[in-house]
Amino acid sequence: LSFLTERLAIINTGKNILSEQLTVGTWGNISCCLTDNLVAITPSGIEYGLLRPEDIVIMQLNGKIIDGLKKPSSETGLHLAIYKQRPDIKALVHTHSPYASVFATLRQDIGPFLEDQVQIIGGTIKVADYALPGSNELNESVLKALGSRYGVILANHGALGGGRHLDEALLACRIIEKSAMTYALAANIGRPHALEPNIIEHLRSFYLEKYAPFGKKGRPR
Ligand SMILES: [Zn+2]
Repeated sequence: LSFLTERLAIINTGKNILSEQLTVGTWGNISCCLTDNLVAITPSGIEYGLLRPEDIVIMQLNGKIIDGLKKPSSETGLHLAIYKQRPDIKALVHTHSPYASVFATLRQDIGPFLEDQVQIIGGTIKVADYALPGSNELNESVLKALGSRYGVILANHGALGGGRHLDEALLACRIIEKSAMTYALAANIGRPHALEPNIIEHLRSFYLEKYAPFGKKGRPR
């Protein structure tokens, strides 16, 4: 089986988002780039615990399926649109995590309140304008709200984290959820303070270029 390591990493990420309660059931989806033109993505509607390596669908950036008998995730078009527009992003994890869902329903951005958020996401976590799942309108609104950052919230839907590899995309989803929880709690007590733009820029570039676990090449460990 080709790309076994990557297929297993996708399955493992699926088990993580389930066990960490970042999603429920079969919702959410996970993909990563294998080469400049090949993407691996979770199939539609299969429990993460039951996924086998051969169930992971491998396709070209134009959507042509190369390997896999299962139907690819219904959000495949969104993943491919992001990879085409953002060559710095090589992996995507989409969740329906609870606190991010709160901001998805409010359609309210999460300001740059925490250092880890601005390091890993790159600043404000914006909410993309609502559009139907699988539509071109959704691809466009998500790309617009994502900007040059690594995380975004889909209105009335869920969260999407990206990164230079799967571990970083999963980390982005965890940080989106923690930022949403922190903001929700903080706003209940008082008025959170946002970080200044020059501080955000400093923290983000330090993380991308020098932070040890992910290093300059963006590979873990
Ligand atoms: Zn979803």
